[in-house]
Order: sequence, then structure tokens, then C-alpha cells
Amino acid sequence: MALTRRQLMTRLGAISALVGTGGWSTLANAARERIIPWRNWSGGQTCIPAARVAPATEAELADLIKSTTGSGVRAVGSSHSFSALIPTDGTLISLSNFTGLLSHDPKTLQAEFGAGTPMSQMGEPLLKVGQALPNMADIDYQTLAGAISTSTHGTGPKFGSYSSNVIGLRLVTANGQILDLDKNRQPELFNAARVSLGSLGVITRVKLQNRNAFRLHQKQWVQKTEELLEDIPRLVKENDHFEFNPILHSDVSLAQVQNETQDTRTLAKEGGGDGDKVGKLQMANTYLRNHPDAHASLLNFLVKHLEFPDVQDQSFRVYANVRDQRFNEMEYEVPAEAGPACVREILKTIREQNLNSFIPLEYRYVKADDIPLSMFSGRDSCAISVHQYFDMDYHNFFAQIEPIFWKYDGRPHWGKLHTLNAAQLSKLYPRFKEFQDIRRSIDPTGKFLNGHLRSIFGVQC
Ligand SMILES: Cc1cc2nc3c(=O)[nH]c(=O)nc-3n(C[C@H](O)[C@H](O)[C@H](O)COP(=O)(O)OP(=O)(O)OC[C@H]3O[C@@H](n4cnc5c(N)ncnc54)[C@H](O)[C@@H]3O)c2cc1C
Repeated sequence: MALTRRQLMTRLGAISALVGTGGWSTLANAARERIIPWRNWSGGQTCIPAARVAPATEAELADLIKSTTGSGVRAVGSSHSFSALIPTDGTLISLSNFTGLLSHDPKTLQAEFGAGTPMSQMGEPLLKVGQALPNMADIDYQTLAGAISTSTHGTGPKFGSYSSNVIGLRLVTANGQILDLDKNRQPELFNAARVSLGSLGVITRVKLQNRNAFRLHQKQWVQKTEELLEDIPRLVKENDHFEFNPILHSDVSLAQVQNETQDTRTLAKEGGGDGDKVGKLQMANTYLRNHPDAHASLLNFLVKHLEFPDVQDQSFRVYANVRDQRFNEMEYEVPAEAGPACVREILKTIREQNLNSFIPLEYRYVKADDIPLSMFSGRDSCAISVHQYFDMDYHNFFAQIEPIFWKYDGRPHWGKLHTLNAAQLSKLYPRFKEFQDIRRSIDPTGKFLNGHLRSIFGVQC
């Protein structure tokens, strides 16, 4: 098979990243032992675990965890986190055998799923029993446990993250205990385990508070970014879900609203991903980034002439998108009222410094919750994301933007890139110590920690 120069460079880059994680001897050992190296969706995180396992039963999982000595036992979902939550030279545990709808209650609209169920496989079984998730994220490739472990969210000021809908879960702890947790059974541990980055144990099943199945109408349009920012109070008030994507180096954004509808006509989402549109932005960036005025004029013109047909269908078919262009991402959650000022400052910085990136920003709202380690703990938030194409260096770009988030009291999304450590995070999370105490009591030897979690929690090696 012939490789293009870019494909060759990408593959060499992946091999050298793997070698960097453990040296040639680790790579040679992995090949001998037939261990498959792990990497995340963006390719930015890699590791060679000593073992990759997918237990078939809870008893097998409990025995495995109990008998494993040392640290670095990490549960993995769909590997869609950008941050280094997963990399380990210890044991990587997949919950791929813990999937599907386990039970449901038509009166309370509650349902229990295997923790390894991909979110993309929850909509249809829920529809069959008349239920739906109240809100969903931008994609549905995540597993249920992976999504709740980082308080993954969609948009809408009346909607919390997936974790806020968790009403019960089963956790296998460091000493192999299998615990059923909810608001009556070990409520503090339950609440902490709703967002725990895999640091309290391995979740095998999750019970959710859902709602009745419903249909959504989605409308997208292009408008001047400053007009949208001025109009945010109305757009947020009048729509169930509002978000917008400012197009970098231009004056315009793609805006989107989604509202519940009783209309039974279906306007199906177009197949395929966003590669075509991202490709146009990339081309404009390649040829015009040293001519900022021409770059802005072209983008203002180009984006206004793209077509975004309305979509109308069952909710879960409308929420999820296909992202077929890989990127790395940093997202911070700032207090909801600080959102417009923060995004204005980010856009100004990108424009004035002509920072080299072309993937649009993402701007969303999320309701407060009462979960100690949730990014939305105790405050209604505005989630703002910046992206960098996967084969472009993100360090310089993100380093220019991250201090802007700090200025607005932002908390980093746990599943996305950031540079904060325990000392800084403890100031952003009023209940950080409460979580730390629970974590230390349930996993005193740090069995579930890797290097990144040690840095986040301030644990010495
Ligand atoms: C293209 C793309 C779009 C995205 N869109 C959004 C979005 O709209 N909103 C948003 O908030 N985020 C978004 N994200 C981030 C993503 O939702 C989170 O990083 C999520 O945690 C990934 O889920 P996963 O199943 O891939 O878990 P992984 O990335 O594999 O793991 C995430 C965490 O969950 C833990 N974990 C996994 N399974 C278990 C288990 N069984 N028990 C205990 N811990 C477990 C892991 O140890 C790890 O700490 C996006 C990411 C990508 C790549």
C-alpha cells in the first residue's frame, strides 16, 4: 500500500510517541507479548499497558482488581478524552462486556444500563420503552461510564451534564468489593462517584433518570458573531438548546437552536461528517493566514453561502454529530454570566495575534449541579472550547488562550487538555477536599491513579 508523505509522517509520529512513552525495549516487549498499544481518538495520548483486559463478569472484574498490586489500574471507555486520564503502564480495563439496557421503569422513567454501553446504542432501546435522555453531547461515541466520569455535557441552561441524571451506580473498589450506591446507600460516595475520573473504582452499571421520548427540531444559521453575543439573553430564553461556533479569523459564527416539537414529520440529518466544511476552513487558513483582511473577507463570504438544512427527528438522532476530522481540544467552564466577555477576549486574541488555527470555537450553556468534582458544581456555566487540528501543534495556541479562561475563574473540562495541577484546582473546586478525602479512604494505596491523576490530586509517586 503506497503512503502519502503526510500518512508516513503521521505513522512515524505515532511510533515515536509510543517509543517516547516507554522506550524501544517496552515496544519490543509489547510486540512479544502481543499487547496492543493504546491511543486516544485524537492520537495525542498513547501508552503501552502491561495488560489489556475485558472481564466477562463482575466477579472476574473484582478478582482482577483485588489481585492487582501497584497502581495504574485504569478503566477505559471509548478513548475519546483528550487529557491523559487513561495512559498507564499498568492494567487497562475495558467494560465492553458490560453493555445494553438492563432494566427500566415506565412509571418513573428510570433505566439502568451496562456501564460500557456506547451512548450511540442507548437511544433506540430507550425509545422502545418510551424514554429518552433529557439532553445529549455533541457526539455519541462515548461510553456511558466514560461520559459521566468527566461530567460530559450538551447545551441548554436548564440541562445539567449526564452525571446530573445519574441516580444509582455499581462500583467495584480497590479491594474487590462490589457496591450498589445511590442517595440512600452510601450517599457521599455515590455523589462523588458520579464524576470521579475513574479514581474511585470501576463502574459496571449506571441508573439514569430519563424523560418521556420526544422529538427535536434543529435550526442552524450564519450570523455576525457580535450580533449573536448581543442577542444571547433572548436566544437562551426562547430556546431549549442554544449554542454557537465562532469561525476563527472571521466576523461570523454558525448558530444553532434545538427545540422540542410535536411535529411528526422527519427531516433526517445529512449523512457523513463535517470534513468537507472543515476542509474549506483549512484551505482558507493555508493560503490566506498571512493576509488577515483577505482571510476575514473570504471567510465572511464563504460561510454565509454554506447550507445548513433544518433537522427534525427523535431527539437522540438530532443531538449527535459525526466528527470525522480529528483535533485536540481545550475547554473551560466559566460562570454563565462571564461567557460573552470571555469568548470576546479569546476571539480578539486569536485575531490580533493571528494564531494559527482554523477549527471554530464552541460556546454552550450547562446547568449547575451538586456533585463535588463536576465542572458545574454549584454554578451555572458557560462552556467554551478551542480546538487545534490533530497534526498541528496545539501547545502554543492553547498556551495563549488558557490564561484568559483563568482570568474568568474557569474550570477545565476533565476530559480535555489543560495544564492545571492540584494546587490550582483546589482553589476552583470548593468541595475538592471532600472528594480527596473520599478517594483516599476508598483507594488508600492509589491503585486507580496514573501520572496525570497524581498531578490533579497532588499525590506523590
Ligand atoms: C469528537 C469529540 C467530541 C466531544 N464532545 C463532547 C461534548 O459535546 N461534551 C463534552 O462534555 N465532552 C465532549 N467530549 C469529551 C468526551 O465526552 C469525554 O472525554 C468523555 O469522558 C469520553 O468518554 P469515553 O467513553 O471515551 O471515556 P474515556 O475517554 O475512555 O475515559 C474517560 C474517563 O472515564 C473513566 N472511565 C471509563 N469507563 C469507566 C468505568 N467503567 N468505571 C470508572 N471509570 C471509567 C476513565 O478512567 C477516564 O477517567 C468530546 C470528545 C471528542 C473526541
